[in-house]
Amino acid sequence: MSESRDSSGCGTLYLVATPIGNLEDISQRALRILQQVDLVAAEDTRHSRKLFNHYGIGTPLTSYFQHNEAAKGEQLVQALLGGKNVALISDAGTPAISDPGCLLVQRCHEIGIPVSAIPGPSALIAALSMAGLPTKRFAFEGFLPARTHARRQLLRSLRNEMRTLVFYEAPHRLAAALQDVRMELGEERPVAVVRELTKVHEELFRGSAAEACVHFAGKVRGEIVLLIGPPEATAPEESVREALKRWRQETDLPLSKIARKLARDYGLSGSDVYREALALQDEEE
Ligand code: SAM
Repeated sequence: MSESRDSSGCGTLYLVATPIGNLEDISQRALRILQQVDLVAAEDTRHSRKLFNHYGIGTPLTSYFQHNEAAKGEQLVQALLGGKNVALISDAGTPAISDPGCLLVQRCHEIGIPVSAIPGPSALIAALSMAGLPTKRFAFEGFLPARTHARRQLLRSLRNEMRTLVFYEAPHRLAAALQDVRMELGEERPVAVVRELTKVHEELFRGSAAEACVHFAGKVRGEIVLLIGPPEATAPEESVREALKRWRQETDLPLSKIARKLARDYGLSGSDVYREALALQDEEE
């Protein structure tokens, strides 16, 4: 193949983007590379077999996933050093983006093995392009933390971020994540949720954080990208947490009363704000 061995005799590591739902979303070049390389390293070989069967690709598949990244990476490096061309694919989208691959790419650069990207689908770019939020500057944050405390802390640190924020989120955590967005970034913060991109039940929701909480209050299925737009001029000056801090410093009111008042002002659940107030009190003591 023309895109192959370099002068030192090494093979090339190809990072090949594959569909994120619709099997037609794969480039001619990606199909050719997958057919021509000596070996394809895939996150889940059973999953990738479906793509291979669909396109009649017979190249040997080997598994390369999060828990064998280090050991398997070395085997792949040896194959590359021995002159084999290797393609890396993930279950969906672009390898090394919230998927295994980054370590292998770094290792290849360290020892001078050529690395080449065969670009194609990535959920974050597809979601960003259709969400209608500003795209001139954006920040991809990967998966939101699963634990409430860490998630709120992260969101709080991004409160004044003027770039559009892009997150991957699991469906069973979406409702809780949206409640936290509403609590930390304000009711009116613009939000977009892109669900099941390129699939039969593709959905784009656009609205405020408060509206998103209502829309996604029930059971949510499918794969999700959550996007948060920059704060609008009318957003409340203070976050709930900042208001809690100020009220604790400026008044002698019991915590439960402060929480009730702020829950009313911010349109949030009293118990959520009270829990936040207790956490703040613990941190300050
Ligand atoms: N490397 C992949 C990429 O470039 O898109 C992302 C891999 S990450 C492990 C998987 C996450 O991507 C899912 O949990 C979801 O947040 C997002 N995702 C993948 N496919 C999607 C789709 N069809 N629609 C919406 N989000 C998707």
